Amino acid sequence: MTAPRSRGRACARRSTAVAGASRPARRRLVFFFDLDDTLHDASHAIFRQIDTRMTDYVERHLEVDRGEANRLRTLYWHRYGATLLGLVRHHAVDATHFLRETHDFDVAALVRAERGLTRLFARLPGRKVLLTNAPMAYASEVLRALAVHRHFRSRYTIEKMRLHGTFRPKPSRMMLRAMLARERVPASQAVLVEDSAANLKAARAIGFRTVLMTGHGARMAGGCGCMQRRRVAGAGLVIRSLHQLPQGLARLRR
Ligand SMILES: [Mg+2]
Repeated sequence: MTAPRSRGRACARRSTAVAGASRPARRRLVFFFDLDDTLHDASHAIFRQIDTRMTDYVERHLEVDRGEANRLRTLYWHRYGATLLGLVRHHAVDATHFLRETHDFDVAALVRAERGLTRLFARLPGRKVLLTNAPMAYASEVLRALAVHRHFRSRYTIEKMRLHGTFRPKPSRMMLRAMLARERVPASQAVLVEDSAANLKAARAIGFRTVLMTGHGARMAGGCGCMQRRRVAGAGLVIRSLHQLPQGLARLRR
């Protein structure tokens, strides 16, 4: 876990407060944001690009037909939270090569998101940390396209989710605990904003406050619907738009 430390963090902690948060929540909150289908609508076009490239890659490197390549891609994604893990674990695929090849397209041209995110993040108090199973180059490109990159000095991407030499992406509780320790944030002050029920469930189990974002695609959790995801996640707050977050914090349950 080698995410960059934020300079001046202690100062920021003292100088900001969460507007509208209930009294127990008034202590400094730190927001951990997922990327795909949370900060932007990856289901609109980007997932299709990545899925196609991943299937191509599996077909080529494992020398299997298209159907089998698709089956393995989705199997590993459901089982491990990232197709990469299954390919590394079972087929000794080179992680860096795989990530580069499968995210090699004009990302910025396909980014679709809500309007006004730059203003929203400027007025949302508290530190923001990116927490995504996507690779760093891709994540940075999306953040830049969204014009919110300045707000995310700490970025945890798949490359940084190795513990003792093994990939531990979301929903690994071990990784989440290690990341909190690294960021020096008690779980009670951590808020995870996510579209994935499985990831929220894991975070909630170790004490995070949780926000389920339902406004984008329903690919997560096996493509199940919004109501099902909400029930599975048991989220403290459910939002359809990131713009509902500042007001919703007052109702954020543990
Ligand atoms: Mg997501």
